[in-house]
Amino acid sequence: MFVSSFWLPKVRLSISPDPREPYAMSSDIDCVSLRIAISPGGTATLMSKMRLSNVDAVQWSASSVVASDEPANVFGANVFGQTEQRQRLPKHVFRALQRTIERSEPLDPVIADAVAAAMKDWALERGATHYTHWFQPLTGLTAEKHDSFFGPIGDGTAIAAFSGGELVQGEPDASSFPTGGIRATFEARGYTAWDPTSPAFLLENPNGVTLCIPTAFTSWTGEALDHKIPLLRSIEALNKSALRALGLLGDDTVTRVFTTTGPEQEYFLIDKTYYYQRPDLINTGRTLFGAKPPKGHELDDHYFGTIPERVLACMLDTERELMKLGVPIKTRHNEVAPAQYEIAPIFENSNVGCDHQQLLMTILKNVAPRYDLVCLLHEKPFAGVNGSGKHLNWSMGTDAGENLLEPGATPSENLQFLFFAAAVVKAVDTHQGLLRAAVATAGQDHRLGANEAPPAIISIFLGSELENVFNALADGQVYVSPSGELMDLGSPVLPPLPKASGDRNRTSPFAFTGNKFEFRALGSNMSPGFPNTVLNTIAAQAIDNLAEDLEAAIGGGATPAEAIQKVVGATYRNHRRVVFGGDGYSEEWHAEAASRGLLNLRTTPEALPQIVESSTVALFESYDVLSARELHSRFDVFLEQYITNINIEAETAADIASTMLVPAALRYLELIDNAGISALDSEVRPLVESFVAAIGHLKTVNEDHPEGTDAEAEYMRDVVLPAMAEVRRYADALERVVADDLWPLPKYAEILFIK
Ligand code: ADP
Ligand code: MG
Repeated sequence: MFVSSFWLPKVRLSISPDPREPYAMSSDIDCVSLRIAISPGGTATLMSKMRLSNVDAVQWSASSVVASDEPANVFGANVFGQTEQRQRLPKHVFRALQRTIERSEPLDPVIADAVAAAMKDWALERGATHYTHWFQPLTGLTAEKHDSFFGPIGDGTAIAAFSGGELVQGEPDASSFPTGGIRATFEARGYTAWDPTSPAFLLENPNGVTLCIPTAFTSWTGEALDHKIPLLRSIEALNKSALRALGLLGDDTVTRVFTTTGPEQEYFLIDKTYYYQRPDLINTGRTLFGAKPPKGHELDDHYFGTIPERVLACMLDTERELMKLGVPIKTRHNEVAPAQYEIAPIFENSNVGCDHQQLLMTILKNVAPRYDLVCLLHEKPFAGVNGSGKHLNWSMGTDAGENLLEPGATPSENLQFLFFAAAVVKAVDTHQGLLRAAVATAGQDHRLGANEAPPAIISIFLGSELENVFNALADGQVYVSPSGELMDLGSPVLPPLPKASGDRNRTSPFAFTGNKFEFRALGSNMSPGFPNTVLNTIAAQAIDNLAEDLEAAIGGGATPAEAIQKVVGATYRNHRRVVFGGDGYSEEWHAEAASRGLLNLRTTPEALPQIVESSTVALFESYDVLSARELHSRFDVFLEQYITNINIEAETAADIASTMLVPAALRYLELIDNAGISALDSEVRPLVESFVAAIGHLKTVNEDHPEGTDAEAEYMRDVVLPAMAEVRRYADALERVVADDLWPLPKYAEILFIK
């Protein structure tokens, strides 16, 4: 590329004909951000730093994409799934493994060597050099420690070896994972244990391939240090309860019930140029500064809009990678906020679904940089702009292929459906606080409990038809179903559509959506493991409670149908306070919910203690899902994460404010002074003074935290967060007045709208 440079008085300039490359040596000049661009015609123009980052950001072109020569259907290509297992394993080993996968029968340890050998051969054929036990510690992320397959044999060469023992158990040096006091570092042993029910997969890197084996992670005393073990235990608990209930309901064909999970994931994609100019995004995942842009999502022009070409290219690539890993991606679309998108898979059993959800987040992050994009999974990357959630679609399925929450055409006559749906209503009402706690994090406090979706009050949306059916049962009335109506769209060429039995409700945190419940309160970067565990366990308990009532009613002489109607009606009567079909964001709902006695736990320090409430401990212990110690460890870890995250944010905010924003403001003041415009001076100077004072205050309050995690968490919420907000208030005000080319952080208007 042609680059010329010459000297001007005081300033040495380098000039390039490429608008992306033009650069001025900045050290000798006042305005560090000055650059010169030469247009094709040869005229030089001054461009502010900001405008040039924007030019950088839009340089991506579709022609840079190398089209993949892989076939269109690559589903499962990198998974050691059933097809590979059948082909490669001796018949009896294959059958034994399937019995464990499909029916949760205990795994015969002697088959492990055969599975390990087949898995190794398969992985080596595809270029793998290493394997790892892939697990999900309480950080909410995934963890991996890679070991080579190859070991020297003494003659200067190496051979590949992988035994059943290495497949079944690993012992990572796990002393630095959060345990909430379950393990002291001097007894830091932790084990990973192979989960044969979630298939092993290959993670590809341009320089090699790694075999990943999904595993559980436990302390040497057998306590769960991860999100998988309790999830698997809760699936067992629900299986038992649901089978018992199905027996009473007259279904004896089903031998296994499992829960199903299909999480919809929201995320942002922004150009990497902006990301790397923002230490707040790099260090905390969200912007700690940023004035509201003139245009937000008010025009509703982004939701379901045409997907920008670069974003679509990135999505297609991401989806291809996920397909190879056997993650059944189905849906993509633009979300409400500018630069926000959604991806959703077809549902799977909850264990595999949760593993796949973790993979999905990893792949989203890994693929984006190929398109000069960065994927933001934080729940609230931009203040004042719609945040990102994860909708946990959840239902119960049977090995007979039935969905227990499928109402069919006439829900009022589907007693089995009404039974299980009523159990969910009871479960959610009884354990609303626990459900809220299961999704509580520092990032979530900017959504739940703030003025955004969904509210911190846990309620259920059922839709009007279902509500009417349940109300009729509860009040001993006869339900008259509306006849199946068709909608006339007013044009003979358009087909008549059946009228849905109920509208949707976007504001509900827990909504019935046709044949599943959708728990919408999860944060976008959250592991769905713990919320799923909670749902399964509270449902197991409620199903058991209803089954007991059913037994009693049948014992009292009622016919099964009468007994079911009676139990469902009574359950709904006792728990319908949790059902709400109106606007969950409204002030009226907050008042109404309070009068119904529903909890409104707005912040994480308020919500987390629900995890160690006596009702929670009794529930989890009686279903052998989590012991009191394991619950306390989770409470400690989550609270600690809350404190640590806010501390990092506070330090980052103080740093950026002191070392980037104050200097920018001072340079601007100097400009104003030179110009001698007093009106500007009296506008800006007091702002800068207050800003400096607010930064000083933030630094002071964040230096000394009170003793004890409970007090510290409350202090972070009540003292440190407000001090950060105050700093931000002045910073954002200054952003609106300081010369654009002096302001060092890219602005919302650029980050969100330039694609
Ligand atoms: P909606 O538009 O109502 O959200 P979709 O059919 O688009 O419905 O499904 C949204 C998500 O719900 C998908 O991820 C899908 O896999 C999941 N889902 C659908 N049925 C079930 C089910 N029975 N159990 C769990 N998740 C489900
Ligand atoms: Mg949905």
